[in-house]
Order: sequence, then structure tokens, then C-alpha cells
Amino acid sequence: MKIDAHCIETTIKSNEPELVRLSAKPEGTIVDVNGVKIGGKEIVIMAGPCAVESEVQLSETARSVRAQGASILRGGAFKPRTSPYNFQGLGVEGLEMLERTRKETGMPVVTEVMDTRQVETVARYADMLQIGSRNMQNFPLLKEVGLTSKPILLKRGMMATIDEYLYAAEYLLSQGNSQVVLCERGIRTFESSTRYTLDLNAIPVLKQRTHLPVIVDPSHGTGIRSLVATMAGAAIAAGADGLLTEVHFKPEEALSDGSQSLYPEQFGEMMRNIRKIAEAVSRNIHSL
Ligand code: PEP
Ligand code: MN
Repeated sequence: MKIDAHCIETTIKSNEPELVRLSAKPEGTIVDVNGVKIGGKEIVIMAGPCAVESEVQLSETARSVRAQGASILRGGAFKPRTSPYNFQGLGVEGLEMLERTRKETGMPVVTEVMDTRQVETVARYADMLQIGSRNMQNFPLLKEVGLTSKPILLKRGMMATIDEYLYAAEYLLSQGNSQVVLCERGIRTFESSTRYTLDLNAIPVLKQRTHLPVIVDPSHGTGIRSLVATMAGAAIAAGADGLLTEVHFKPEEALSDGSQSLYPEQFGEMMRNIRKIAEAVSRNIHSL
């Protein structure tokens, strides 16, 4: 039997979620995070600690990454931890530190929201709401966050297919919020020499299927500090619109994800490397 390739392609396309599919907005979406635009020619670097731990830790790390070219400050105040006995984040106190550091540095902040009951509070402080890998299919949370007017960073579920990922994004858009950035952060595979397997295929696949910007998190994607800069470069070469990287002023003292957090000098080296790669793909790194 002869297979009609065109017919198969049409069927696949018509199964795409409606609002996120590329054909719904072929020119692409630009997400504006308090003046920092993601999805255009400029590549946006988000950096900061895994978790907000103290005023000094946040402020020192933020000043250093800003000076070296990061535009958005990351830092979790509410942390999803595997063990309930591990540091869970500083909560509202952490949000207040993020707010003060935003004032001090002028960097917009992205921080995670895990619970529908916290959306209003986190949205009061954050410039961008992060939905973590573990919550990518928390549908009530997606609906609640989709009702806010804040830009959203939707991380890929570590066990989610691209189809499931796009449907998760569709939840957000269906609630009226189209300011959504996707973030590939590694998936679970049989490979155990890295924390996750960073799926760089996801970048061109998502670019072919959706108009939403796509960024990459090489910190969680590898789990190993010495691999982060290399994979950051690979992500830019493959067409990523930005990066999310963990940086800590003293990684050996970090309360979470220390082993994948870059030293500030390493972050500087990574920035120098990706500037060259960005130029090779006719893009440049956004600066504040
Ligand atoms: C994080 O960004 O610190 C985080 C918890 O990421 P993920 O949800 O991708 O594990
Ligand atoms: Mn982390």
C-alpha cells in the first residue's frame, strides 16, 4: 500500500493544540518581562541561585551575573524538593528579598509558584512566574497562572513528551495569557552519568510547531557544573531564545543544587563563549 505522506502530515498538523501552534501566529510571540523581550533576535540570559537563601547570597550573586550580562534574575522562594526534610525555600521572606534585589540591580525576577493558593502572592512580587517541571501537568495550577497577567516560564515536565508539553502551554493560553516562554530542562532517560538528558532536539521541534519562545536550562539538564557552559553553547547554536542558568556566589554552601551551580567566574566564561556562538547564528545577547 502506498502511503500518502501529505495526508499524514495534514493529520498531524490538525491535531496540534490550537492556540500554541505555529500557524496561529507565524510571526512568533515576543514575551515582555518588564522590558526584557524574549523571542526576538536577542538572546536573553536568566541567571541566579537555585533558591533564595539570604539577602547577601542573592544580592552578591545578582550583582555579579548582571555585570557579566544576565538580564533576568532567577531564584526560588518556594522550592519543590524530593525530600520533605530538605530546605523548602524562604517563602514570602524570599520573595521580599527578590523584590529588594530587583530594586537594587534593576533586573526583573523570575520565581517559581507551586500552589494555586500562592499564585496571587507570588504574582505580587515576581515579574515572571515559573511553573516547574514537576508541575507541568498540574492542571489547576496552569489554569490559575493562566488567569494572571504575568509572563510565564513553563518548564518541560521531566517525563513529558513534546505533545504533552504543548498541551500544557495550551492550558495557559486558553485562560487568556499568551505571554508564555517554554524551557527545555532535560528529561529522564536510562542515562545515569548526568542528572537528566538535555533534549536539544526539543528546540528545533518546538520551533517548527509553536510560536512561543524556547529557552534552555543546561543546569538541571546536566546536573553537573563542568558541563553547563558547553551545553549552553549547544543550545544557542540550536536556536534557543535564551538560557536559564544556576549561579551561586559560594556553590559549595548552597542549600540546593550546589553541584550544578556555576561559580560567578565560570558564568563569565560561559557568557564569553556564548557571545561568539550567538554571533555565528546572527544573534546577540540582550543586555540591560
Ligand atoms: C529550578 O529551576 O530550580 C527547578 C526546580 O527546576 P525544575 O522544575 O526544572 O526541576
Ligand atoms: Mn534548581
